[in-house]
Amino acid sequence: MSKHATSEAVMVWAGPRMHLVQYPVRRGELYNQVAVFESDSYTPHSDDWGTEAELEERFAGTCQAVRDALPLVSRDRRWPLYDRAPVDQWVFGRIALLGDAAHPMLQYLAQGACQALEDAVALGHALEQSSSLERALATYASLRSPRASRIQTNARRFGEICHLEGMGATLRNMLLASRSPENFDDISWVWTPATAAAPAL
Ligand SMILES: Cc1cc2nc3c(=O)[nH]c(=O)nc-3n(C[C@H](O)[C@H](O)[C@H](O)COP(=O)(O)OP(=O)(O)OC[C@H]3O[C@@H](n4cnc5c(N)ncnc54)[C@H](O)[C@@H]3O)c2cc1C
Repeated sequence: MSKHATSEAVMVWAGPRMHLVQYPVRRGELYNQVAVFESDSYTPHSDDWGTEAELEERFAGTCQAVRDALPLVSRDRRWPLYDRAPVDQWVFGRIALLGDAAHPMLQYLAQGACQALEDAVALGHALEQSSSLERALATYASLRSPRASRIQTNARRFGEICHLEGMGATLRNMLLASRSPENFDDISWVWTPATAAAPAL
């Protein structure tokens, strides 16, 4: 992270199997930058991939604005990315899954913690309003699973679109160029408050 935020917008610089995202945090006190790329060196049995050298190599051919920003990207931490396809079962007897345990998702919609919070609110309401623990957990899972699964699936798709190459990237760019930057119609449902309250049982 570097100081001196310049814009309130989230900037995404998309490239083939890579992107750089930039956005201000803490009311503009800090500017967060995250460089993401699909590593060619990945093997499940080694940690020698997604290295700083590979980062430099992969971003060497990017545009000037991205190359200017790259030296300011912190190198002290890196995160391998994992997700999972939605699962049908969230409740096992008296145990219910919540948050990443229920719906681990990729970061492209920045929704992992948001969905965990929505789970917590829905579970709280269900426990408050249900006549038994079993009914509360079943209500919680049936209320939350469709929305969380949809976001989980779409987060992966959003990353795939962001990292398109060749003709796919050209089509993506044409589509985005034809839209107003203020048009969020296709994605606004993610940030539309869900019905958190469980119906009275
Ligand atoms: C770099 C990064 C950026 C992110 N940015 C965003 C963002 O902008 N917006 C967003 O919504 N989400 C974001 N996320 C995702 C978000 O952090 C997670 O989705 C969220 O933390 C999930 O919450 P959780 O409570 O389910 O799991 P966790 O936060 O992982 O909490 C699980 C806890 O359980 C503990 N634990 C594990 N095993 C045991 C055990 N056996 N016994 C006891 N305790 C145990 C762990 O130590 C941990 O404290 C980001 C994640 C990362 C890594």
